[in-house]
Amino acid sequence: MVDSGLDDLYQEVVMDHGSNPRNMHRLNDPNSTAHGFNPFCGDIVDVDISFSKLDYGREAITEIGFDGKGCAISIASASMMTEAVIGESVDQANKIFADFHSMVTDKSKDIDDYENLGDLEVLSGVANYPTRIKCAMLGWHTLIAALKRDPNTVKTE
Ligand code: ZN
Repeated sequence: MVDSGLDDLYQEVVMDHGSNPRNMHRLNDPNSTAHGFNPFCGDIVDVDISFSKLDYGREAITEIGFDGKGCAISIASASMMTEAVIGESVDQANKIFADFHSMVTDKSKDIDDYENLGDLEVLSGVANYPTRIKCAMLGWHTLIAALKRDPNTVKTE
């Protein structure tokens, strides 16, 4: 269940990130770029990532930028995604993706299970609007494609 306080916060955060997106710029020389398209709403998101090497062959996301056109939720969610994963290891970014995906697609969730997601928790409200879930997930699926260095366009279907 989502309480009404969180629902108000949801509207506020989507408006804020939708009208003033963070990290909304392309990188000059990214190590990886991925393209995402949500045919249900017409949203488009491109994600650029620059990696740095950690120990044991692991990598971290040193820089991330995105560009996109679409509804407020697709842009807001992509904006929040960049803030959530910048500076994180690729392993941690994959874990944040998995938690976020579960949060917005599972209505039976207990919101307390997602406290580790910080501000992203307000997007749990998307689970109440099934037609917007693909909008909210677009930037995130595109992130995963960029982490895998997958050159194919990601589609939310
Ligand atoms: Zn959309």
